[in-house]
Amino acid sequence: MLLDVVKYGHPVLRKKGEKIGVVTPEIKKLAADMLETMHAAKGIGLAAQQVGLGLQLAVIDVREATDRPSTLTVKGQPVEVNDFMPLVLINPELKPGDQPAAGTEGCLSFPEIFAEIVRPESVDVVALNGKGERIEFHCGGLLARVVQHETDHLHGILFIDRMSRETKAELKPQLDELQAATKATLKQ
Ligand code: ZN
Repeated sequence: MLLDVVKYGHPVLRKKGEKIGVVTPEIKKLAADMLETMHAAKGIGLAAQQVGLGLQLAVIDVREATDRPSTLTVKGQPVEVNDFMPLVLINPELKPGDQPAAGTEGCLSFPEIFAEIVRPESVDVVALNGKGERIEFHCGGLLARVVQHETDHLHGILFIDRMSRETKAELKPQLDELQAATKATLKQ
């Protein structure tokens, strides 16, 4: 089932997600719907806040982004990134590496807005997967960027919070317009 993606200006995007205790059939259905919604929108990541829910659940699929490499290591062994996709992350905990990398990011809650964001190039992740099993992995490149972007969402943090002051100033007219449009629809 396709879900509505909320846009910048909706207060739920600033909501810190509650941890998920048990991965119930309802949570599995939600994850499946979020994946369907993300794929339909040609996105590579989607967080529960973006479909209006303050939960620690995000979905990721970087298979389509063939021009931006990702790396993935499980138990110290490099594994095929695509074999791990799509990825459901529940209650993710991150330990970022100390090497920064700049890269372009967009967000389904900010249509047509793109910006260069600096984040750690790699990250260690502990989470539950869509079946409620504990998973641990180390990732780099685009996958590390998406994992961090989505985990930020789960804590009410948006990519505009990670932009340089100059970039945010440049985008201000578009951001203000989007925020006002969202608020206008909320009032209806
Ligand atoms: Zn986003």
